[in-house]
Amino acid sequence: MKVFVLLLFAALSSCAVLQSNEFISRAVILAGNHNNVYFLPYESGTAHYVVQGYESLFSHHGDFAIDFKMKPGTKVMAARSGVVVFVRQSTARGGVGKRYAGTGNGVTVKHSDCSFAHYWHLQQNGALVSVGDSVEQGQCIGLSGSTGFSAFPHLHFEVTRALQKKRTSFPVPFLTEKGAKFLQPLRRYKAM
Ligand SMILES: [Zn+2]
Repeated sequence: MKVFVLLLFAALSSCAVLQSNEFISRAVILAGNHNNVYFLPYESGTAHYVVQGYESLFSHHGDFAIDFKMKPGTKVMAARSGVVVFVRQSTARGGVGKRYAGTGNGVTVKHSDCSFAHYWHLQQNGALVSVGDSVEQGQCIGLSGSTGFSAFPHLHFEVTRALQKKRTSFPVPFLTEKGAKFLQPLRRYKAM
């Protein structure tokens, strides 16, 4: 089942060549003046697979979000410094039914340029920060899980220009072993 889901994601994931000049030009336009390189949102020295990338047709249609495959309880780190503006950690439930959409646990961090990073599907009571807390890039902010609309344990990460995330996300580059890169589905990336 897990293999099937991964293959399904591979088939549906964006085929865009994310390091192409075309994509990078588009990303620069979409990001506007929100230029920043993000840390991978997990512990330095650990690596995770991207199972679903930008604009994937499975559940990121039109959204620039990344799903990192992650065992429940994995430490989630702030990809960028900011202030916590949203925390939900009450639910233990998750699955792929419509009834789970928008019900998962998450943390949202507001950055100095007024963009917002969203960390979703955390485990129950898995937020290690509270609204109003300042967080540093690389600080542990939560524990991953599979709550809300989630087929298997993973972290959904997305940066948006408005707190209401619908259709305001934009692509962001991450610091990888090979420098700042836009992440591609079905590749494994090690946090620096
Ligand atoms: Zn996702």
